[in-house]
Amino acid sequence: MTYPLYGIWDGKRYDYRRKAPAEPVTVVAGLEALMPDNPTRAFIADRGFLVFDGGANLAQVFLQHMTRAAQESCGRCTPCRVGTQRLRDLLHVFAYDEAGTEVLDEMEALALQVTETSLCGMGQTCAKALWQALREFRDQFRPLTVAQCAQTPGHFSYTTAPCIEVCPSKVDVPKYIDGVKGGKFDYALGVVLEKYSMAATCGRVCVRFCEDACRRKAVDGPVGIRMLKRYAADVALSGGKALEIPLPDVRRDERVAVIGAGPAGITCAYKLLLDGFQVDLFDAQKSAGGMASVGIPSYRLPKDVLKAETETLIRHLGGRFFFDKALGRDFTLDELWAQGYRAIFLGYGASQGTLLGVKNEDPSLAGYVSGVDFLLKVHKFVEYGLPYDVTGDVVVVGGGNVAMDCVRSAKRMGARSVHLVYRRTVEDMPAERDEVIACGQEGIHFHCLSNPSSLVIENGRVVGVELLTMRQTELDARGRRGVEPVPGTEHVMPCDLVVAAIGQQVDRAVLRPEDGIQLDKWHCITVNPDTLETTRRGVFAGGDCVLGPLTLVNALDHGDRAAASIREYLLTGDVVIKPEARMQQLLAANKLLLDEPVAVPPSPRERAHVPELPAETRVRHFKEVDGCLSKAAAYEEAKRCLRCYRVYSLSTARPLAHAE
Ligand SMILES: Cc1cc2nc3c(=O)[nH]c(=O)nc-3n(C[C@H](O)[C@H](O)[C@H](O)COP(=O)(O)OP(=O)(O)OC[C@H]3O[C@@H](n4cnc5c(N)ncnc54)[C@H](O)[C@@H]3O)c2cc1C
Ligand code: SF4
Ligand code: SF4
Repeated sequence: MTYPLYGIWDGKRYDYRRKAPAEPVTVVAGLEALMPDNPTRAFIADRGFLVFDGGANLAQVFLQHMTRAAQESCGRCTPCRVGTQRLRDLLHVFAYDEAGTEVLDEMEALALQVTETSLCGMGQTCAKALWQALREFRDQFRPLTVAQCAQTPGHFSYTTAPCIEVCPSKVDVPKYIDGVKGGKFDYALGVVLEKYSMAATCGRVCVRFCEDACRRKAVDGPVGIRMLKRYAADVALSGGKALEIPLPDVRRDERVAVIGAGPAGITCAYKLLLDGFQVDLFDAQKSAGGMASVGIPSYRLPKDVLKAETETLIRHLGGRFFFDKALGRDFTLDELWAQGYRAIFLGYGASQGTLLGVKNEDPSLAGYVSGVDFLLKVHKFVEYGLPYDVTGDVVVVGGGNVAMDCVRSAKRMGARSVHLVYRRTVEDMPAERDEVIACGQEGIHFHCLSNPSSLVIENGRVVGVELLTMRQTELDARGRRGVEPVPGTEHVMPCDLVVAAIGQQVDRAVLRPEDGIQLDKWHCITVNPDTLETTRRGVFAGGDCVLGPLTLVNALDHGDRAAASIREYLLTGDVVIKPEARMQQLLAANKLLLDEPVAVPPSPRERAHVPELPAETRVRHFKEVDGCLSKAAAYEEAKRCLRCYRVYSLSTARPLAHAE
């Protein structure tokens, strides 16, 4: 039966030292057996502490925790800078030098002072559990015995914040915001570059999971995390400068093949090149960037920005590109092995359009195109001047970001009128709110609660689309409304082009059964979610071809993690799950960080506004709509960050392998 022996969590005291509970007690699910074959002795967090092993000595456990806290203190305010160091030193003296119990009195007073008077989340939370433990379980602080000194229990501390934890790439957001605030823009950019190279791209188009989780959101709006990332990256790339990333000092002989030079493949290659491996990238297109290049229109993401942090950077680091080379069409996995590659990363995305499933639908019809194919044609028109005529009336079907890109691009291509058809309400649209608003400003006609039932064909081309009016159904058990067609409401909307933008799929022609890679029912590649290994040894995969069409930052994260796995596989022959990854899973499964309100609200400061081109001029071209913050605005925005750092410390029975 599992239960904590004693501890305090969210203000509640647990004490089963004398008598076990009648039933299991779970405070943080999965904590007792977080590390395989290495039981948890104690856990310390901002919300309290829990002890599972009567042999754990609180002086030792908190010493390790405060050692990390003292390292993490930025030193800007005295209570935290001096207080965390003093607490660490007092714990050390008490544990190892047999100091008297008056040291415990001093620690209790100091831990409270650090908690109550520090400036940011780090100082306000790192000593709180120590204060609680000293008040409620002081008898568990003991000088270490000779036997305890000889033992080597495991210890692992992990520092994070809500915005970091919710970001798939786990970028240290408060750290780079600190860099912007301090005018150290290279430092700020360097924090992002530790994870991936596409900082300016991400600073423009990321879907901003971090801002959704930002604790300032409930006070006066989330910190403009994405705009600050863009600011730091744009400063570094201003005037067409190249990213200054030092070449690795080791050169390893192992060669890795990366299939697909999209965000996942580029990130994997970037990290492996920094580790000194030889990397070749194969892509079916003629340029790097994947959907960020041929999907996302240049009015949201200028292609010179993308190129600087993909193709140019990878070449600078020694990577080689083989464009117009498609796996499954031009070569096979076996041929890559035969050429001497020691590991392969598959990052070929999800590039096939999805059919609407309506009558008369035929992808070869004139006047009919999928969303991704439409955007590819627009891309070739804008970047290479290849002819593409979109001057008539355009109907785009869908309510996601791809549909928004299609309608806004059609407008810029000179369409007479652009109509967005969506089967649910505007509130239900999965597209980003900013995109929906921008469409309204740019004169896109919305037809919500409308669904196509048939294409109208004349002389072999589409001349209209038959629509059915939809209505919302009653709330279901989960509190959601469905939609259903209203009988007899068929009507035809004449048009010259129908764009089906209701989703993408993975290309089924890339892998064959003899490649030995397991696929799921959607033809996504099956991987070990922790290591990104496929079912074929030495082959790893990530991004949209694993997850289905998702987001840029999910692909960046997969590229980063796959590179770490490939590195380990090539150097040791094996891939293990690191304590850090297990801790992240624990925090996510228990939502330890995400629902926490701001205890002492800061004085309100309005969120910065990104300058943008006026709607009436921007629809005439593909120039970037959103501008960059000014230096002063970036500084003011950076000051809004509350630095919600938290330190989590785990003590285990035996030493932990791979703990940093
Ligand atoms: C129109 C559009 C707009 C989007 N907007 C946003 C946004 O604003 N924010 C956001 O976060 N996400 C957005 N996304 C999603 C995001 O772009 C993707 O999730 C991301 O690009 C996935 O990266 P990836 O590397 O896995 O795949 P991809 O970007 O698809 O890259 C895969 C690469 O593999 C290549 N390839 C394909 N088949 C083969 C083959 N057989 N052999 C060799 N190479 C091959 C392709 O040419 C491509 O270069 C958007 C997607 C689209 C389509
Ligand atoms: S980390 Fe926060 S609490 Fe600690 S010194 Fe810096 S500002 Fe103060
Ligand atoms: S206030 Fe700063 S540290 Fe806190 S969640 Fe927002 S961006 Fe992250």
